[in-house]
Amino acid sequence: METTLKLNGQTAIVTGSSSGLGEAIALELASAGANVVVNYHSGDDEAEAVVKRIEERGGRAIAVGADVGEEADVKQMFAKCIAAFGYVDIPVNNSGIQRDKAFHEMSLDEWNQVINTNLTGQFLCAREAVNIFLKQGMRGVSKALGKIICISSVHDVIPWAGHVNYAASKGGVMMLMKSLAQELAPKKIRVNSISPGAIQTPINKEAWGTDEALNKLLELIPYGRIGQPEDVAKQALWLASDESDYVTGATHYIDGGMTLYPGFADNG
Ligand code: NAD
Repeated sequence: METTLKLNGQTAIVTGSSSGLGEAIALELASAGANVVVNYHSGDDEAEAVVKRIEERGGRAIAVGADVGEEADVKQMFAKCIAAFGYVDIPVNNSGIQRDKAFHEMSLDEWNQVINTNLTGQFLCAREAVNIFLKQGMRGVSKALGKIICISSVHDVIPWAGHVNYAASKGGVMMLMKSLAQELAPKKIRVNSISPGAIQTPINKEAWGTDEALNKLLELIPYGRIGQPEDVAKQALWLASDESDYVTGATHYIDGGMTLYPGFADNG
């Protein structure tokens, strides 16, 4: 059956898509017909494996190494995308890291690394994409000139002790996204965030790797299960498609209810 979610003729760049959420998003967008740049920072084998899976399903993808916090790398990544596929339509700013530490012991380097990858990386990728959107113009493949998807976190609203650098970076992503959405809506560029709760990926293995840890985590999730990367990927596909054409500047919490203050469920 023909789906209205088809992204045929469009190109996505998914940062940090050699694993975890990025990998699932890359596969989902490719299965809807998008060409995909599978960006990685380290581990080109994993990125090439994602490319292979996309190609085996009849899609088109290339792996491109780049540090999203480095301006020259980001420019080079977008240039390689244009060289391979001609256009950029759907940048998914997904790369993210944690460098957890008690606040009083956190080094400036641990602060800077997280801000640079999680926040400055989103700025650099979004800016490069917007300049390309404005240059390439409407192409008849989507109602929008471009769709920017920012992968944030429930920690853009839930404070997180011991992770001040991470929570600050994601809070920053929220206002980057909203301010960009306001500025770019008249140009028909849509900008939205996905803020995942606990999703089973390598970044948070200590939170689900043992039964004890998983049970403690589930206390925070009213829906009673940990999320899977596909839960997030499906939302990314919807935001990339014309199905969400009237949606911009919105944060989409994909969290099984984690942001619903579950501690208050039994009268607080
Ligand atoms: P992950 O560790 O599997 O993926 C992170 C990706 O970012 C990796 O592919 C890594 O190579 C890439 N990356 C790291 N530094 C980079 C850099 N400098 N340049 C380019 N790429 C770089 O973890 P994940 O869970 O898939 O995380 C993806 C995103 O989702 C992150 O932004 C994370 O903060 C966010 N997130 C995850 C969860 C969760 O529960 N897993 C929850 C909320 C938000």
